[in-house]
Amino acid sequence: MAIERTLSIIKPDATRRNLTGKINALFEAGGLRIVAQRRIQLSRAQAEAFYAAHSARPFFGSLCAFMTSGPVVVQVLEGENAVARNREIMGATDPAKAADGTVRKQFAESIEANSAHGSDSLDNAKIEIAFFFAGVDIVG
Ligand code: ADP
Ligand code: MG
Repeated sequence: MAIERTLSIIKPDATRRNLTGKINALFEAGGLRIVAQRRIQLSRAQAEAFYAAHSARPFFGSLCAFMTSGPVVVQVLEGENAVARNREIMGATDPAKAADGTVRKQFAESIEANSAHGSDSLDNAKIEIAFFFAGVDIVG
């Protein structure tokens, strides 16, 4: 296995409930290292650009409204097999289907307000990391 980096976002439902530290603790306990992190307010244009791959899906407008409803914490996670590992720690998109102990099982409010985003492939991780971070901002 290789050391990878993946893009994670702690979503507005979680920042609103002050859960950043609790979610970060799960990433760290799961073997991932937070090598870059920034709390930001996404604009509508930024949310639409980030989720452009989902623009044809019926929930796109609602998702972009949700993602701009409050601050998010964008972060780069590093570790062995980080893309897949992060998705294991997050759990399934729908919290009703997420495994016990996962971020989404513990914290998600709904399939939309599901507390965390994680890149779904190494190629997308590279694109998504570059969307938010310059190389100089990532300290491994
Ligand atoms: P994941 O975040 O697990 O990779 P997707 O990439 O399929 O899931 O979807 C992106 C985000 O869109 C989800 O995390 C969730 O916030 C939202 N979403 C996905 N499916 C639905 C749905 N059926 N209804 C509302 N929002 C959804
Ligand atoms: Mg996805």
